[in-house]
Amino acid sequence: MPGTAFLAQNSKGGIAVSGKREDYISWDEYFMGVAILSGMRSKDPNTQVGCCIVSQENRILSMGYNGFPAGCSDDVFPWEREASKALDSKYLYTTHSELNAILNYKGGSLVGAKLYVSLFPCNECAKAIIQAGIKEVIYDCDKYADTASVLASKRMMDAAGVAYHQYKRSGREIRFEL
Ligand SMILES: [Zn+2]
Repeated sequence: MPGTAFLAQNSKGGIAVSGKREDYISWDEYFMGVAILSGMRSKDPNTQVGCCIVSQENRILSMGYNGFPAGCSDDVFPWEREASKALDSKYLYTTHSELNAILNYKGGSLVGAKLYVSLFPCNECAKAIIQAGIKEVIYDCDKYADTASVLASKRMMDAAGVAYHQYKRSGREIRFEL
C-alpha cells in the first residue's frame, strides 16, 4: 500500500518494510573497522595499530598507523624490538598511530573529537590526545594495561577529562576482496 510502508519499523529478512537495509554496520563498527584497516598498512612485524579520529557529528577527520616518519625509509630504518644498541631498535624511530592521525589532520582543530584506536594509547600518545583537545577514546585491545606507560596514560586522561571506554565487539565478520 503506497504511503504506508515507511511507517513500518519491523525488519523482514534484513530489509525494513520501507526498503532500507537493516544489516548495515553501526557507527562503532565502521570507525573501529577503519582503524583496524589502517593498522594493516603498518610495516611493523610485531605490532600493527590503527587509529581513526571522528568528529562529534560522526565524520571521519583523520587516520593513522604506526610507522616511521616520512622520509625515513621502511627499508633502511630498523624494525627490531631487541637490539644490542638502542639506535638499532625501532623504538627511537616509530610514530604511533594516534600521534600520526593527529599530525595527519590538516583541517584545523580536533577539539571535542573522538578517537578510535585498536590498542590503548601509550603515555606519549595520551599527551598528544589531551593537547589536541580530543575528548573521547574508544579502544579495542588493552593488553598492556598493567604497564607503567598505560597506567600513566590513564592517570593523565583521567586528570584531563578525556573519557575512554572499550569498544564492544559485535562478533560480526566482514570479508571482501581487494
Ligand atoms: Zn603511543
